Amino acid sequence: MVYTGPVDEYFGYKYGALEYRSLRFETETLDTGNYQGIAGMNYTDADTPFTRIIEHKHFEFGKGNPDKTVITKEYPCEWKQGNEPYYPVNDAKNSELYRRYKAKADDKTNMIFGGRLGTYQYMDMDKVIAKALDDAAGMHI
Ligand SMILES: Cc1cc2nc3c(=O)[nH]c(=O)nc-3n(C[C@H](O)[C@H](O)[C@H](O)COP(=O)(O)OP(=O)(O)OC[C@H]3O[C@@H](n4cnc5c(N)ncnc54)[C@H](O)[C@@H]3O)c2cc1C
Repeated sequence: MVYTGPVDEYFGYKYGALEYRSLRFETETLDTGNYQGIAGMNYTDADTPFTRIIEHKHFEFGKGNPDKTVITKEYPCEWKQGNEPYYPVNDAKNSELYRRYKAKADDKTNMIFGGRLGTYQYMDMDKVIAKALDDAAGMHI
């Protein structure tokens, strides 16, 4: 069995809940054909309240209204249980908690705990696909 949900949820939060950073998205339509000329622009300074602006039309340029554009600003926000868990917090406290859940997961030899939630790691798409292929090969299926 492959499980791609949160590893702590699988074990009923036996040792407590792992923490995440979360995001709030604000989307707006602007009266301009081109806002930032690129799909993603990061903002890393302390004075800007958002961390990224996505301008959707640049992911698939040539489609959509030439006089308007849709942008989404990403604001960091605190995560509470029940919110979408976006980024794991790999500090000492959460790493130790994950280590305990991983030990339980490793005992379940007929299961793969996969993906970003099953392994409590941030992974880009290429990494998560490579890991899924490795895990499947390891199960000799
Ligand atoms: C905000 C954000 C931005 C990102 N940007 C990029 C980027 O620009 N480029 C890039 O390469 N990667 C990016 N990533 C990473 C990429 O999204 C992940 O690597 C990829 O989606 C992880 O795939 P996954 O299958 O592990 O997890 P997910 O895609 O989250 O899939 C997990 C699945 O498990 C299911 N599930 C959850 N709980 C349960 C349960 N209890 N029981 C059964 N099923 C359950 C969910 O419904 C979901 O279908 C980003 C991630 C985030 C969070």
